Amino acid sequence: MKLFAQQAWIQGQWAQQVLLEIDSTGHWTQITPNITTPPADAQHKSTIVPGITNAHSHAFQRAMSALTERGSPEGDNFWRWRQTMYQIALSITPDDLREIATQLYRELLDGGYSHVCEFHYVHHDPQGRPYADPAEMCWALVQAAQETGIGLTLLPTLYMHRGFGNPGLQEDQRRFAGTPDMILDLQTRIQAYSQKNNLTHRLRAGVAIHSLRAVDPTSIRELTAALPKDTPIHIHIAEQKKEVEDCLAHLGARPVQWLTEHIDIDHNWHLVHATHTTPQEIQALAKTGASVVICPTTEANLGDGVFDLTSALKSNLSWSIGTDSHVNRDVSEELRLLEYSQRLTQHQRNIASNVTGGQQASATVLFERALQGGHAASGLPLGGLAVGQRADWFELDLTQDNFWRIQPEHQLDAWIFSTPSAKLLRNQ
Ligand code: ZN
Repeated sequence: MKLFAQQAWIQGQWAQQVLLEIDSTGHWTQITPNITTPPADAQHKSTIVPGITNAHSHAFQRAMSALTERGSPEGDNFWRWRQTMYQIALSITPDDLREIATQLYRELLDGGYSHVCEFHYVHHDPQGRPYADPAEMCWALVQAAQETGIGLTLLPTLYMHRGFGNPGLQEDQRRFAGTPDMILDLQTRIQAYSQKNNLTHRLRAGVAIHSLRAVDPTSIRELTAALPKDTPIHIHIAEQKKEVEDCLAHLGARPVQWLTEHIDIDHNWHLVHATHTTPQEIQALAKTGASVVICPTTEANLGDGVFDLTSALKSNLSWSIGTDSHVNRDVSEELRLLEYSQRLTQHQRNIASNVTGGQQASATVLFERALQGGHAASGLPLGGLAVGQRADWFELDLTQDNFWRIQPEHQLDAWIFSTPSAKLLRNQ
C-alpha cells in the first residue's frame, strides 16, 4: 500500500510531499519526502501524523467517568473515589468489559491513540473465584481491541496485599487476587494466542505489578525473574502522598528511591504516575533506562499532584502518557494539561520548550517525547513515521477551527494548544 501525503510529521518536523509505503504486515518499508510526481496507485492524503500509544488504561473505569463528581461535607479524595471504583469493579461481567472497552477504544482511536496498554487486574468472577478459563476477562479486552482495530499491550497485573505490611486483600478487592505464577500463566496464554493468530505486531503480553503497597519485594522478584527477555513491566508508583509516607515507614525509602535501589530495573520498566518524587529520584531513575507514564487528566481528577516534568526533561528521562481512568480520551488534552500544570505551578510559560533549550516548540517536545515513550511502554515498534515501525497514522483535519489562519509551521502547536470547543448545537 502507498500513501502520498502533502505533509507528514517525521522525526519531529513536517516533511512535504511524502510517499509512504506499507508492507503486508502493516509496517513502513519506505518513506520518501519531496516527491514531485506520486505513483498512480498511491492514496492521496493531506496532513498525517503518527498514532500515539496510550500507555496506561483501566478500561472498566470508563464506565464511571463523570459519576464521581459530587463531594461531601467531609471532603473528597483519592481513597473515597477508590471505594466507588471497587463497587464498579465488582459489578463488571466479561460481556460488560468487552462492551465498555469497545466503546473506550473507539474513543481513543478518535482521540489520536493507535495503541493502548491495559493495566488489567479484574481477574476473577464477582465472588472472587477464578473463571473456568482464567483468562476470561483478558479475552474481553483482546476482543474489544480486535473489534475496533486499536493495538493492545495487555498487562495482567499482580495484586496481593491491601497495603504495606498488611497482607491479604480486602473483601472488595477479591476479584484482583493473584500470585506470580498466575500472572505468568496469563502472560503466557496471551502471548501464545497472539503468536497462534499471527497478531504479534498488534497484540503483546507484558505484566504489571499493581504497586509497592500491593505486592511485596519477594513476589516482585519472583515474577520478574521468570519473565521472557524484554517483556514490558509496568507498576503504579508514588501516586499519592500517603503511599510515599507508608513506603518510608515500611521499606525505609521513598517508592521510586526504593525501586531503583532494590530492584534491578531497566528499559523494560514503566513507572506509572511517579507524581511524588525528588529531583534526585528522577535522575537515578533516568540512569536505569526505565520510563515513566504520566496520566495528566486522571492525576488532576484524583487530586494526585503535579509530575516534575522539568526534572524529567533535564535528566532525559523517557516518558509516555496514559488516560488511566479515562475522564479524558484525547491525546492533545493530556499533553496540554501536562504543560499547563507546570506553567501554573512555576509561573512560567513554555516549560517543555525552555527546559530543552528553546529551539523546539513546546508541542513538538511534548508530542515527540510521548511518542517515543509510548513506543517503549508498548514493547512494539511504535516510534512514528519511520522505516520498520508499525504504520499507525492519523490525518489531521485542517478544516477544524483551531487551524484557522495557521501556517504549517504552527499546525502541531494549534492541534495541542488551540482547542476546538465541544460540539454544541446553537440556539437559533
Ligand atoms: Zn492506574
